[in-house]
Amino acid sequence: MNKTLSFPLITVITLLALVSVSLYPALASAAESSLVGKVVALDSGHGESESSFGTSGVCVTDTATTVVKEVEVNNAVRQVLADMITQAGGEAFLVPQLESRNARVDSAETANSNVLISVHHNGSTNTSADYTQFFVTQKNDKELANAIYSFMLSAVGGTGKGIKSDGYGMTVYGSLPGVLTESYFITNTDRACEFVAYLEDPTNTSSIVHKEAQALFAGLESYFATQTSGGSGGGRGRNR
Ligand SMILES: [Zn+2]
Repeated sequence: MNKTLSFPLITVITLLALVSVSLYPALASAAESSLVGKVVALDSGHGESESSFGTSGVCVTDTATTVVKEVEVNNAVRQVLADMITQAGGEAFLVPQLESRNARVDSAETANSNVLISVHHNGSTNTSADYTQFFVTQKNDKELANAIYSFMLSAVGGTGKGIKSDGYGMTVYGSLPGVLTESYFITNTDRACEFVAYLEDPTNTSSIVHKEAQALFAGLESYFATQTSGGSGGGRGRNR
Protein backbone atom coordinates (compact mmCIF):
# COMPACT_ATOMS: atom_id res chain seq x y z
CA MET A 1 0.00 0.00 0.00
CA ASN A 2 2.74 2.36 0.91
CA LYS A 3 4.55 1.51 -2.29
CA THR A 4 1.64 2.38 -4.55
CA LEU A 5 1.02 5.69 -2.76
CA SER A 6 4.56 7.01 -2.72
CA PHE A 7 5.30 6.35 -6.38
CA PRO A 8 2.65 8.69 -7.87
CA LEU A 9 3.54 11.38 -5.33
CA ILE A 10 7.13 11.46 -6.54
CA THR A 11 5.87 11.57 -10.12
CA VAL A 12 3.65 14.54 -9.36
CA ILE A 13 6.49 16.42 -7.64
CA THR A 14 8.83 15.73 -10.55
CA LEU A 15 6.20 16.89 -13.04
CA LEU A 16 5.55 20.08 -11.07
CA ALA A 17 9.25 20.86 -10.99
CA LEU A 18 9.56 20.30 -14.74
CA VAL A 19 6.53 22.47 -15.50
CA SER A 20 7.74 25.37 -13.36
CA VAL A 21 11.23 25.26 -14.88
CA SER A 22 9.87 25.27 -18.43
CA LEU A 23 7.33 28.01 -17.67
CA TYR A 24 9.87 30.42 -16.22
CA PRO A 25 11.45 31.76 -19.43
CA ALA A 26 8.03 32.10 -21.07
CA LEU A 27 6.77 34.20 -18.18
CA ALA A 28 9.91 36.33 -18.09
CA SER A 29 9.58 37.36 -21.72
CA ALA A 30 5.78 37.46 -21.91
CA ALA A 31 5.28 41.19 -21.36
CA GLU A 32 7.12 43.57 -23.69
CA SER A 33 9.33 46.00 -21.84
CA SER A 34 8.40 49.68 -21.92
CA LEU A 35 12.06 50.22 -22.86
CA VAL A 36 11.55 48.85 -26.38
CA GLY A 37 12.59 51.56 -28.83
CA LYS A 38 13.86 53.90 -26.11
CA VAL A 39 17.36 55.32 -25.99
CA VAL A 40 18.84 55.66 -22.52
CA ALA A 41 21.99 57.75 -22.23
CA LEU A 42 24.24 56.35 -19.51
CA ASP A 43 26.88 58.65 -18.17
CA SER A 44 29.55 57.20 -15.91
CA GLY A 45 30.79 59.98 -13.66
CA HIS A 46 34.45 61.05 -13.97
CA GLY A 47 36.95 58.98 -16.00
CA GLU A 48 38.20 61.82 -18.23
CA SER A 49 41.75 60.84 -17.34
CA GLU A 50 43.70 58.47 -15.08
CA SER A 51 43.68 61.02 -12.27
CA SER A 52 39.98 61.78 -12.60
CA PHE A 53 38.43 58.92 -10.65
CA GLY A 54 36.05 60.80 -8.33
CA THR A 55 36.11 59.66 -4.74
CA SER A 56 37.57 56.40 -3.40
CA GLY A 57 37.01 53.92 -0.62
CA VAL A 58 39.09 51.21 1.03
CA CYS A 59 38.15 47.62 1.80
CA VAL A 60 40.36 46.02 4.44
CA THR A 61 40.19 42.29 5.10
CA ASP A 62 42.58 39.92 6.92
CA THR A 63 44.35 39.20 3.64
CA ALA A 64 44.18 42.36 1.57
CA THR A 65 43.67 46.11 1.45
CA THR A 66 41.90 47.20 -1.72
CA VAL A 67 41.30 50.76 -2.90
CA VAL A 68 38.04 51.15 -4.78
CA LYS A 69 37.81 54.15 -7.09
CA GLU A 70 34.42 55.71 -7.73
CA VAL A 71 34.87 55.62 -11.51
CA GLU A 72 35.34 51.82 -11.42
CA VAL A 73 32.03 51.45 -9.61
CA ASN A 74 30.28 53.92 -11.95
CA ASN A 75 31.61 52.03 -14.99
CA ALA A 76 30.59 48.63 -13.60
CA VAL A 77 27.03 49.72 -12.81
CA ARG A 78 26.72 51.37 -16.21
CA GLN A 79 27.84 48.23 -18.05
CA VAL A 80 25.49 45.89 -16.20
CA LEU A 81 22.60 48.33 -16.72
CA ALA A 82 23.44 48.77 -20.41
CA ASP A 83 23.25 44.99 -20.89
CA MET A 84 19.86 44.86 -19.15
CA ILE A 85 18.48 47.67 -21.33
CA THR A 86 19.73 46.02 -24.53
CA GLN A 87 18.28 42.67 -23.50
CA ALA A 88 14.91 44.34 -22.91
CA GLY A 89 14.89 45.76 -26.44
CA GLY A 90 16.00 49.28 -25.60
CA GLU A 91 19.18 51.05 -26.59
CA ALA A 92 21.89 52.14 -24.17
CA PHE A 93 23.99 55.07 -25.32
CA LEU A 94 27.27 55.11 -23.42
CA VAL A 95 28.14 58.78 -22.99
CA PRO A 96 31.81 59.40 -23.78
CA GLN A 97 33.74 60.36 -20.65
CA LEU A 98 34.49 63.87 -21.88
CA GLU A 99 35.91 66.57 -19.65
CA SER A 100 33.08 69.02 -20.21
CA ARG A 101 29.74 68.07 -18.70
CA ASN A 102 28.04 70.23 -21.30
CA ALA A 103 29.71 68.19 -24.07
CA ARG A 104 28.60 64.95 -22.38
CA VAL A 105 24.97 66.10 -22.38
CA ASP A 106 25.34 67.32 -25.99
CA SER A 107 26.48 63.87 -27.10
CA ALA A 108 23.48 62.28 -25.34
CA GLU A 109 21.09 64.67 -27.10
CA THR A 110 22.78 64.13 -30.46
CA ALA A 111 22.23 60.38 -29.99
CA ASN A 112 18.47 61.13 -29.64
CA SER A 113 18.39 59.85 -26.09
CA ASN A 114 15.03 59.86 -24.33
CA VAL A 115 16.56 60.18 -20.88
CA LEU A 116 19.95 60.50 -19.22
CA ILE A 117 21.25 58.82 -16.08
CA SER A 118 24.52 60.08 -14.67
CA VAL A 119 25.89 57.37 -12.37
CA HIS A 120 27.97 58.57 -9.42
CA HIS A 121 28.73 57.34 -5.90
CA ASN A 122 29.14 59.59 -2.94
CA GLY A 123 32.15 60.17 -0.71
CA SER A 124 32.98 61.37 2.78
CA THR A 125 35.98 61.45 5.11
CA ASN A 126 33.71 59.59 7.55
CA THR A 127 34.07 55.94 6.47
CA SER A 128 30.79 54.96 8.12
CA ALA A 129 28.71 57.64 6.34
CA ASP A 130 26.23 56.16 3.86
CA TYR A 131 22.96 57.28 2.30
CA THR A 132 21.12 57.48 -1.01
CA GLN A 133 20.62 60.83 -2.70
CA PHE A 134 19.58 61.83 -6.23
CA PHE A 135 20.06 65.22 -7.88
CA VAL A 136 17.85 66.93 -10.44
CA THR A 137 17.55 70.42 -11.91
CA GLN A 138 14.67 70.71 -14.36
CA LYS A 139 11.03 69.81 -13.81
CA ASN A 140 11.16 66.86 -16.21
CA ASP A 141 14.17 65.50 -14.31
CA LYS A 142 12.06 65.09 -11.18
CA GLU A 143 9.60 62.70 -12.84
CA LEU A 144 12.43 60.41 -13.90
CA ALA A 145 14.14 60.60 -10.50
CA ASN A 146 10.87 59.83 -8.71
CA ALA A 147 10.36 56.72 -10.81
CA ILE A 148 13.78 55.33 -9.84
CA TYR A 149 14.32 56.53 -6.29
CA SER A 150 12.16 54.10 -4.28
CA PHE A 151 13.53 51.12 -6.22
CA MET A 152 17.05 52.26 -5.31
CA LEU A 153 16.25 52.72 -1.63
CA SER A 154 14.99 49.16 -1.28
CA ALA A 155 17.81 47.77 -3.47
CA VAL A 156 20.75 49.22 -1.56
CA GLY A 157 18.90 49.16 1.75
CA GLY A 158 20.28 52.37 3.16
CA THR A 159 19.05 55.66 4.50
CA GLY A 160 17.39 57.97 2.02
CA LYS A 161 18.21 61.67 1.82
CA GLY A 162 15.76 62.16 -1.03
CA ILE A 163 15.82 63.89 -4.40
CA LYS A 164 17.52 67.24 -4.25
CA SER A 165 17.17 70.10 -6.69
CA ASP A 166 20.63 71.32 -7.52
CA GLY A 167 22.83 72.13 -10.45
CA TYR A 168 25.55 69.59 -11.11
CA GLY A 169 25.83 70.18 -14.84
CA MET A 170 24.60 66.82 -16.09
CA THR A 171 21.01 67.76 -15.25
CA VAL A 172 21.44 71.49 -15.98
CA TYR A 173 22.48 71.41 -19.62
CA GLY A 174 20.19 70.34 -22.43
CA SER A 175 16.53 69.55 -22.08
CA LEU A 176 16.26 65.78 -21.87
CA PRO A 177 15.04 64.38 -18.55
CA GLY A 178 18.05 63.46 -16.48
CA VAL A 179 19.03 62.38 -13.00
CA LEU A 180 22.37 62.24 -11.22
CA THR A 181 22.40 59.28 -8.85
CA GLU A 182 24.51 58.90 -5.71
CA SER A 183 23.10 55.54 -4.64
CA TYR A 184 25.52 55.03 -1.76
CA PHE A 185 28.91 56.08 -0.38
CA ILE A 186 31.86 54.22 -1.84
CA THR A 187 34.00 55.66 0.99
CA ASN A 188 31.91 53.52 3.36
CA THR A 189 34.05 50.53 4.35
CA ASP A 190 31.24 47.97 3.95
CA ARG A 191 30.28 49.35 0.53
CA ALA A 192 33.89 49.22 -0.66
CA CYS A 193 34.03 45.58 0.44
CA GLU A 194 30.73 44.84 -1.31
CA PHE A 195 32.29 46.15 -4.53
CA VAL A 196 35.40 44.01 -4.00
CA ALA A 197 33.08 41.01 -3.62
CA TYR A 198 31.52 41.93 -6.97
CA LEU A 199 34.97 42.07 -8.60
CA GLU A 200 35.72 38.60 -7.26
CA ASP A 201 32.57 37.25 -8.91
CA PRO A 202 31.18 39.68 -11.53
CA THR A 203 28.53 37.14 -12.61
CA ASN A 204 26.87 37.03 -9.19
CA THR A 205 23.52 38.70 -9.84
CA SER A 206 22.98 39.45 -6.16
CA SER A 207 26.10 41.64 -6.01
CA ILE A 208 25.80 45.31 -5.03
CA VAL A 209 26.48 46.31 -8.66
CA HIS A 210 23.66 44.13 -9.97
CA LYS A 211 21.30 45.32 -7.25
CA GLU A 212 21.93 48.94 -8.19
CA ALA A 213 21.65 48.27 -11.93
CA GLN A 214 18.42 46.32 -11.37
CA ALA A 215 16.93 49.24 -9.42
CA LEU A 216 17.85 51.71 -12.17
CA PHE A 217 16.38 49.33 -14.74
CA ALA A 218 13.13 48.85 -12.78
CA GLY A 219 12.83 52.63 -12.39
CA LEU A 220 13.35 53.19 -16.12
CA GLU A 221 10.72 50.59 -17.00
CA SER A 222 8.27 52.18 -14.60
CA TYR A 223 9.05 55.66 -15.99
CA PHE A 224 8.52 54.69 -19.63
CA ALA A 225 5.40 52.68 -18.77
CA THR A 226 3.86 55.85 -17.33
CA GLN A 227 4.99 57.92 -20.32
CA THR A 228 3.37 55.62 -22.90
CA SER A 229 0.11 55.26 -20.99
CA GLY A 230 -0.74 58.90 -21.64
CA GLY A 231 1.42 60.71 -19.09
CA SER A 232 3.09 63.93 -20.15
CA GLY A 233 3.71 63.01 -23.76
CA GLY A 234 7.20 61.57 -23.79
CA GLY A 235 8.91 64.36 -21.90
CA ARG A 236 11.20 65.37 -24.73
CA GLY A 237 9.99 68.91 -25.26
CA ARG A 238 12.55 71.64 -25.77
CA ASN A 239 11.31 73.53 -22.73
CA ARG A 240 14.25 74.68 -20.69
ZN1 LIG B 1 31.14 61.41 -8.67
